[in-house]
Amino acid sequence: MTDCRLCRAEALDQDPKGLAKRIAFPTPVFEGHQVVMTTAHHDRAEDVSPEEWQAVGTLIGAMNARLRQEPGFERCYLLAIGDADPHQLHMHVVPRFEGDPPLGPHIFGAEGWVAGRS
Ligand SMILES: [Zn+2]
Repeated sequence: MTDCRLCRAEALDQDPKGLAKRIAFPTPVFEGHQVVMTTAHHDRAEDVSPEEWQAVGTLIGAMNARLRQEPGFERCYLLAIGDADPHQLHMHVVPRFEGDPPLGPHIFGAEGWVAGRS
């Protein structure tokens, strides 16, 4: 889909079959924040084939393996949010390094989604 900025984004890496790609996120929240997505435009998770999910997982695993070599790396947060345009299913891969604040409390804690639920 040509009007999708994520589909048009240049691939930093691709799986061998070309089913998924890794791109730089235009407004990273942390250093190293990138996106892994299918190369075909899909709005919803149920439209992604098992082979495409495997390709997405392969790229996330490769990114995680590279990050493990960096000093201070602790883990990767994996998020698929989809609240904003474009509605292209994509996985945010956000590395956490020593000293970074934990993400969990911002999502699941009293200030996160829980605060908006009754
Ligand atoms: Zn797209």
